[in-house]
Order: sequence, then structure tokens, then C-alpha cells
Amino acid sequence: MPVAAGLIIHAEMTNIALTPGVASVPESNAPRVERVETLLLDLPTIRPHRLSVATVRSQTMVIVRILCSDGMIGIGEATTIGGLSYGSESPEGMKLTIDQYISPVLTSSHFTSVGSLMAKVNRCVKGNHFAKCAVETALFDLFAKRVGVPLSDLFGGRLRERLPIVWTLASGDTACDIAEAEEMLGLKRHNLFKLKIGFRSLAEDLQYVQQICKALDGRARIRVDVNMAWSESEAMRALPTLADAGCELIEQPVSSAGALARLVRRYPVPLMADELLQGPESAFELARNAAAEVFSVKIAQSGGLIPALKVAAIAEAGGIALYGGTMLEGPIGTIAAAQLFSTFRAMQWGTELFGPLLLREEILVEPLSYADFHLTLPRGTGLGVTPDDDRLRFFQRDGARKSFSILTA
Ligand SMILES: [Mg+2]
Repeated sequence: MPVAAGLIIHAEMTNIALTPGVASVPESNAPRVERVETLLLDLPTIRPHRLSVATVRSQTMVIVRILCSDGMIGIGEATTIGGLSYGSESPEGMKLTIDQYISPVLTSSHFTSVGSLMAKVNRCVKGNHFAKCAVETALFDLFAKRVGVPLSDLFGGRLRERLPIVWTLASGDTACDIAEAEEMLGLKRHNLFKLKIGFRSLAEDLQYVQQICKALDGRARIRVDVNMAWSESEAMRALPTLADAGCELIEQPVSSAGALARLVRRYPVPLMADELLQGPESAFELARNAAAEVFSVKIAQSGGLIPALKVAAIAEAGGIALYGGTMLEGPIGTIAAAQLFSTFRAMQWGTELFGPLLLREEILVEPLSYADFHLTLPRGTGLGVTPDDDRLRFFQRDGARKSFSILTA
């Protein structure tokens, strides 16, 4: 059955208004939220992932599961890069926020719409973008399953079935990074590479980028992410050399919006905002000041799927190009972002939704489909993915894996 036809039938059956993001049912008919569950998963990475702010050797993700009185279940994820070294929310803090502050707001509430439930949450909990994103994702997953459509249909529907995927070279070793890039090109998995810099001296960083660009010349496109590590004067020294080396995009070289705006006006190489984008208000300020040519849209950093959609709308209105960012989420958070990004009118710089590929372990019944330089979106309802409950139990903090290590110690 075509999706549109399915929507009409389900709308008649459930009396659901089909306005993207605000679909609702009368409160008296609406099922109730019965339970909000959270768990912390600790998953090792395939190699150390070195950034200017931290070296990631394992990822901790918060998995949220929301159960409704009609038997429907939604899942969401919140993950951060390197604990508190990147942003203001830790996995442990997100779990506590959801358990102690968000769950009581949602539990027993009628599930009239995702928007109304998140409005209740926002009245009671300020900030906490990552935790809210995980909860909002689970609510959207649940609602999309209830009406029998992929999550992307709630945001206007897909304009693309697959997304280009950047791979980040961040082993900290130039030869290893070149070998890794060659392997990715050989596998036809990635031909867009982002280099993490900012933790070496400026001269070493520039030499590293030049060596990688030279080794991959003509076969791959190269960008860099400085994660705010440079002063404005360091950035002024570095940008011409990076452009000469063939670097096509420079992500968040400095921390200040004012300095970024001044750099944008001085150099022709596109500059991208990432850490400065903390939701629609910050996006509006950056757009108003023409402080970046590209926005890295992240669902968690924006505060959820709806805020991320607003960030993208502000970018589009301001003539700013889009790039799909990641907090190195596992497969649940990654596919939530992919569902939203698939609905954006333009995605000029691709996406970096490679988080699951950085993990050594799989937590889905069926892994995400990465091939031919793209991630292909699943066609199922909701997020379109099914967690492997045995694997979740095994990797849950204080779960089976810890018991197993104790038993075998
Ligand atoms: Mg970044």
C-alpha cells in the first residue's frame, strides 16, 4: 500500500490530524504513557577516536524506551562525544534527567501528540537537549509505528532514500589514517573524509592535512574539524594553507561566533558551524550575523527532531548550506537523524552518520545498511530498526557483560 494511502486510512481509523509534527488525537481517546525506561550501554569502539577535546575509546549511550497503554513501544537514544569533554550533558546525567524529571511528566499522560507531550516536558525541564532528543525520538518512533508509517513521513516524507556518509579519520597517526582511507575507498564505503585536528601544534596539523590531501588527491574529498581548538589568529594563519592543500570545508575552527563571522568574510574556503549551533535561537543568531556558510545540523545538540528541523529551516532561509552532523550516536540515534535528514530539501555537504561503524558491537537485530558510499534508510514503520534485546542486556552497564567478566575473572 502506498504510504499516502496508508496515512489516509490510518487517519480515518484513529482521527489523527496529519500536520507534520503536530498530529494529535482527542485526549479522551488517546492511550496513556505507561512507562519510560532508560538504560546505559557501554560499547567499545573499533579504534581510539582522537579529537581536540577527547580521545574516545568506548561510547556510552542512553537508550530510552517508552511504553504506551495500547501496547505500542518507542525507542530513542542520547549519546555524547567523550562524556562531558564535548558538551554539557553526560550519559549518566541524561539518564538521571529522564528518570527523575522527564519520566514523571510523561507517565500517565494521554498520548495526544508528540508536540503536546514535549511541550509538557519543556515546561518542567529547561535545557538538557540530549535527554530531550532521546525522549522525543522515542515518542515519534511510537507515534509513527501507531499510524503505520516511517518516521520521515511525519516530517513531510523523504526526498531521498539514502544519504552520503563521511568517514572521520581520527586515529591520531598519519600513516594509519591514510591506510584507513585507502581501505574505505577500496570497500566503496566512503570517499568523503573529515580529519580531526586541533590537538597537535598548528604546524603539525597543517603538515598532517597536506599529507592526507596529497595521498588521496583526486580520489576523495577532504574536510577538517578543529572542534574550536584555534584562536582567531591561529585560524588566520592556517586557513590559506588548508585551502591550498585542497581542503574543501573547515568545521568550527574557533569557539566564538564573532571570530567565525570575521573569518568567513576573509577567506573563500567554506566555514561550518557545529558547536555554536545549540538549537533554533543560536541558528538564528548565526544566520543573522552571516557567521557561517554551512550548518552542521545535529538532532541531539538542537534539542530534538523538531528543533533540528527548525535549525535547517533557518539555514535554508538564510542561504546557508546543510550538513548532517553526529554526536557519534549508535544505530538508534543515527537512524533517527537519517529519517529527519532524508526530508531536507537540500543536503549540500552530505552527512557524517557513521557512528554505528565506529562501534565494535552490533545492537540491532538487522544492522544499518552502509554500502556504495551511502546509508540506505529502512522502509519499516517508525525508526525502522529493531534493537536486539539480548545484546542490550549484555552491554547494559552493570548488566550481563559485567557479570560475565566477574564470573570469568
Ligand atoms: Mg564537529
